[in-house]
Amino acid sequence: MDTLEQFREETRQWLLAHAPKSMCTPVRVVDDLCWGGRRAQYPADVKRWLDVMAERGWTAPTWPKQYGGGGLDKAEAKILSQEMAKLGVRAPLVGFGLTMIGPLLLQEGSEDLKRVHLPPIGRGEIRWCQGYSEPGAGSDLAGLQARAVIDGDDFVVTGQKIWTSYADKADWMFLLVRTDPNVRKQAGITFLLMDMTSPGVSVRPILLISGSSPFCETFLDNVRVPRSQVVGQVNGGWAMAKALLGHERTMIADIFKDRAPGNPLLELARRYLPASAARIADPIIRDRITQLDMDAACLDLTLKRSQDSMKAGHKPGPETSMFKYYGTETNMRRRELMLAIAGPQGLGWEGAGFDESELALTRDWLRSRGNSIEGGTSEIQLNIIAKRVLGLPD
Ligand SMILES: Cc1cc2nc3c(=O)[nH]c(=O)nc-3n(C[C@H](O)[C@H](O)[C@H](O)COP(=O)(O)OP(=O)(O)OC[C@H]3O[C@@H](n4cnc5c(N)ncnc54)[C@H](O)[C@@H]3O)c2cc1C
Repeated sequence: MDTLEQFREETRQWLLAHAPKSMCTPVRVVDDLCWGGRRAQYPADVKRWLDVMAERGWTAPTWPKQYGGGGLDKAEAKILSQEMAKLGVRAPLVGFGLTMIGPLLLQEGSEDLKRVHLPPIGRGEIRWCQGYSEPGAGSDLAGLQARAVIDGDDFVVTGQKIWTSYADKADWMFLLVRTDPNVRKQAGITFLLMDMTSPGVSVRPILLISGSSPFCETFLDNVRVPRSQVVGQVNGGWAMAKALLGHERTMIADIFKDRAPGNPLLELARRYLPASAARIADPIIRDRITQLDMDAACLDLTLKRSQDSMKAGHKPGPETSMFKYYGTETNMRRRELMLAIAGPQGLGWEGAGFDESELALTRDWLRSRGNSIEGGTSEIQLNIIAKRVLGLPD
């Protein structure tokens, strides 16, 4: 048996022996996923699955072993994800640590920062949030005003962040601050790592019309952040910010795609629409499902190509805007189509007339709209593609 085939066989056997049965069921809502962190409350199987995978370094399979990863090369990592998919087993851990700040630290962090921050991310001990947006700095991110002034060994940070997803659950924040107000706006920004328990940090959840509050306002009042927590150079944060956005945009394109086994659109059509001789009777719906499946497959292949190139050491470039745009647009089209298929049963908010899966249809459709805003809006991605990928004039 060649080495990779042997690795596949061992991986399969190991997963069969260690994945709890309850972890081999589809994820229904985002809260089913394991986000880790000091404040996390885990059902027993979730914790067992996290611990056993972290022990092997397989929460972050391609990170080097000395930073708590699995040290797998890209062919082995692919086999691991294929075998996990075959078993239908959930990711043991998700979050901004694994998908955003971890990859950035691997790429740009000092040895000290890597050793301090990466292993706890892999073990699911520390949950991260992102402090980029401010009330006057969303699409124009470089216009941010949160200020950091050097005082001895620390920066002293003052300002406000907004739309900080899960700040109320996070242990650490990666954030952008203005360290030089007298230069071109992109040139005076620094990228910092901040402990959320530092004195002067306060977090206020924003209540949405849905009743949930996934975002927060974060206020920073003379918060001391050690200078050792700078990623990259002082005033060199804009390059870090863009590199991290590359990881974020690729992740957003990937994370919200449908991972349920089979074809959920067909399942839905079989449940809600008339069928004639084993086919969905409505030719327009058949056509829309096929078109969407083809578009999703094209995106998947392009994403895989880019992920392979990143694993081979290439940094993500402006093409990540294409993934973000196309991924979120495809997801919105899929959610629209699901509502069209379910008809009035896809319009429920609460009440006895709808089952849990129907209520999820409405919630997921609404969530998909936000998906086109976070990490930079669709309009901004189109601008980046026009200028930096296609080279079109301003
Ligand atoms: C679900 C979700 C989660 C988020 N999580 C986080 C988080 O964890 N951390 C964080 O820091 N931020 C987060 N955000 C904030 C997000 O990054 C910003 O909302 C986004 O960058 C847009 O900024 P804005 O809301 O200020 O809109 P604005 O920049 O005010 O834009 C308003 C509208 O104008 C358009 N527009 C603006 N400029 C241009 C232009 N030059 N050309 C064409 N159109 C333009 C935009 O596309 C948009 O439609 C999150 C947002 C959402 C929806």
